[in-house]
Amino acid sequence: MKNASAPSCRHSPRTPAFEVYTKRELDRIAPLMRLPEERRFEIRVVAEVLPFRVNRYVVEELIDWSAPFADPMFILTFPQREMLPDDAFSRMTDLLRADAPRHEVEALARELRAELNPHPAGQREMNVPEIEDQRLEGMQHKYAETLLFFPSQGQVCHSYCTFCFRWAQFVGDKALRFASSETELLYRYLARNTGISDLLVTGGDPMVMKTRHLRRYLEPLLDPGAFEHVQTVRIGTKALTYWPYRFLTDPDADDLLRLMDGLVRAGRHVAVMAHFNHWRELEPEATQRAIGRIRSTGAVIRCQGPLLARINDDARTWARMWKAQVSLGMVPYYMFVERDTGARRFFEVPLARAWRICRDAMKSVSGLARTARGPSMSAGPGKVEIQGVAEVAGEKVFVLRFLQGRNAAWVQRPFFAAYDERATWLDDLKPAFGAEKFFFEDEYRAMLAQCSTESPLPN
Ligand code: SF4
Repeated sequence: MKNASAPSCRHSPRTPAFEVYTKRELDRIAPLMRLPEERRFEIRVVAEVLPFRVNRYVVEELIDWSAPFADPMFILTFPQREMLPDDAFSRMTDLLRADAPRHEVEALARELRAELNPHPAGQREMNVPEIEDQRLEGMQHKYAETLLFFPSQGQVCHSYCTFCFRWAQFVGDKALRFASSETELLYRYLARNTGISDLLVTGGDPMVMKTRHLRRYLEPLLDPGAFEHVQTVRIGTKALTYWPYRFLTDPDADDLLRLMDGLVRAGRHVAVMAHFNHWRELEPEATQRAIGRIRSTGAVIRCQGPLLARINDDARTWARMWKAQVSLGMVPYYMFVERDTGARRFFEVPLARAWRICRDAMKSVSGLARTARGPSMSAGPGKVEIQGVAEVAGEKVFVLRFLQGRNAAWVQRPFFAAYDERATWLDDLKPAFGAEKFFFEDEYRAMLAQCSTESPLPN
């Protein structure tokens, strides 16, 4: 490999122990115990419904405990009362205060989760591919050129984000999980679908896996002559924030970097799809060293994350984050709109405001930091970007385009929605100019109808 064995990493002055706290260990989080009892109880109530997991590094190194309720890293990882609808919060509060038996608490939690749209954008119904009538449950194939693979060992994260759109995978309900350990099926599917150029290994966070597992999944791609159509290996992760030591001092960190290096040498484009929500995440020295090590393999780090109320809903935060990403050698890639699931009510930002934040942030950075796309909604029909607000023929409209579409023919085609200051998602929008429907609606409905009985995509 090139420089992935940089000596400074092994001799870090201080590598913290990796220790995880879940809802059962809330009382072991020392700084949390200094907060008022009522606030701690609220955290407990919400953590019965939405997933909670945080590690000691995040608690001790990233969170500002002098003002936690205004701190983006605290809000990013600790549940808050307003993340649940009032009625749901009251019902769970009553059960816990009454010291109800565990099975009652869990039954209510399941009921409340089902009301939070656990599988947005038709991912269960429409995206699961098939091979010889066998559903490949650990994969999603929504866009023709990209296959998502959910390795079963990578379906947790080093910490959980309170806004996560994949939260349903973390609540212990197997019916809600995507996961696969089927390497053989993965490569059979890839062999039959030569239009797939990108394999996205995702989770959870695949970086929680031991390198030997990741290597087993990716081994066939180390051969430059095999699966030549798979040009890109993407790895989705937030480990650079939540556990940068994954790339520094974990026992198999060097082996992980050798794997990335090997994939690059085999001619694959290796893209680490890093998830960042705030410039604070880029400040730790360990994160910066980890970024340097990944880049030394030839992998490219592309940065993405949603726009979130209370965490990053102002232009200055995004501009500062994008600038920091570029100065560390990474590529700003996506600003997402918070998806219509889980704790969305707490985090959502109206589309009109999201666009203004994006535009104002873009205005204050150089061209190299303007590579991010968005604000973009990962909706059922595809990824829809808000390109702007304009007045056309006397009507104020959103100008939209598909960055990705279930039908590739939709991609890049501009379309228009009536301006609505309060809309927060594609479903809230109405077509502009008095049209009855958007151009893609009939075809999308037909796809939905077909997928209720058939395989979503040809294999
Ligand atoms: S790291 Fe990613 S998958 Fe894990 S909780 Fe956060 S957003 Fe979700």
